[in-house]
Amino acid sequence: MKILTMLLNSNSIHPLTTKILFWYSINKRDLPWRKNPKPYNVWLSEIVFQQTRIEQGLAYYERLLEKFPTVYELAASEEREVLIAWEGLGYYSRARNLHHAAKTIVKKFDGKFPGDYKDILSLKGIGPYTAAAISSIAFANARPAIDGNVLRVSSRLFLIEEPIDKESTKKNIEKALTEIIDIKHPGDFNQAMMELGALVCKPKNPHCKICPISEHCLAFHSGKQDQLPIRSKKVLVKKVYYSFLVISDLNNLLITKRKEGIWKKMYQFPLIESDELLTIEGIRSVLERSSISPVNTIYESKEYKHILSHRTIYAKFWMIKVEGSLNYKNAISIHKDDLGKYPFPRLIHRFLESEEAIQYLLM
Ligand code: SF4
Repeated sequence: MKILTMLLNSNSIHPLTTKILFWYSINKRDLPWRKNPKPYNVWLSEIVFQQTRIEQGLAYYERLLEKFPTVYELAASEEREVLIAWEGLGYYSRARNLHHAAKTIVKKFDGKFPGDYKDILSLKGIGPYTAAAISSIAFANARPAIDGNVLRVSSRLFLIEEPIDKESTKKNIEKALTEIIDIKHPGDFNQAMMELGALVCKPKNPHCKICPISEHCLAFHSGKQDQLPIRSKKVLVKKVYYSFLVISDLNNLLITKRKEGIWKKMYQFPLIESDELLTIEGIRSVLERSSISPVNTIYESKEYKHILSHRTIYAKFWMIKVEGSLNYKNAISIHKDDLGKYPFPRLIHRFLESEEAIQYLLM
């Protein structure tokens, strides 16, 4: 980190800081919470946009704010309502934690979002990055907020040839950024770094020619910008195979509530998880063991491929019409018209919105 020390000048605002802030003032995207950085709005935006692109999450952010305009409405809501508003956005633990944290803010902090970094960090679903982002943007606390974008920009700017997923590397980056953060406008500085990563210093082919800080960028000067950042861990993507049983009679169908995993407390159809997708014979034998007798043909959906960060799901939906009472393990029977009252993961929605599901549910 010797080079770093040479690069920095702690007595005044570093020219790099001035340049990035100027660039940000002209190029920042017009995002709703930037106009009015109230702690609640900033918190909501930070949770929605964890692992979600701005274009994808914007409508969700607006919808959540409309439905739960303050922390009081959020805390007073049913968890299921929050999950329904979150449907399709994925990573549903964010919604469950958001709801839990809202209750804590109302109970422990009298409904006032805490301004202290440690208090923010104590809220469920908030890690060091989110706490630093909220505390700098909403409370002008001079603490660098280091997300994936900032790690990438910093690794290039400071020519860090160590894996960025190592704790010691993150600590070094935090130290370096602490020295150049604008203490009067820390929120703008943090957002400027993130915005630079999103718009200019992209993972592949960074736009160095138009970069406002290229003059200070050590990777650019040594032509190593395409080799950085370095990562030590590879994300292992597991393949899983889901066969869903869409068991229904004329008006009702069976759904189950997930008890654990990434879809905890969301709803789905009775599921059989196996080493490969079941065939019609496999489905028939499951039904025989459960004493379910289909009244006519069992319809097989197309195969769905659903990609999540740590797993790829291959799924099929088996549409099974029965007569008499609807019973399958601990599934609950609901009226088809009530499907909208339950939160379902995106994969289930993809099926429900398909032509094959619409035709079947009309039968
Ligand atoms: Fe990133 Fe290139 Fe700018 Fe360096 S000069 S910060 S590599 S865009």
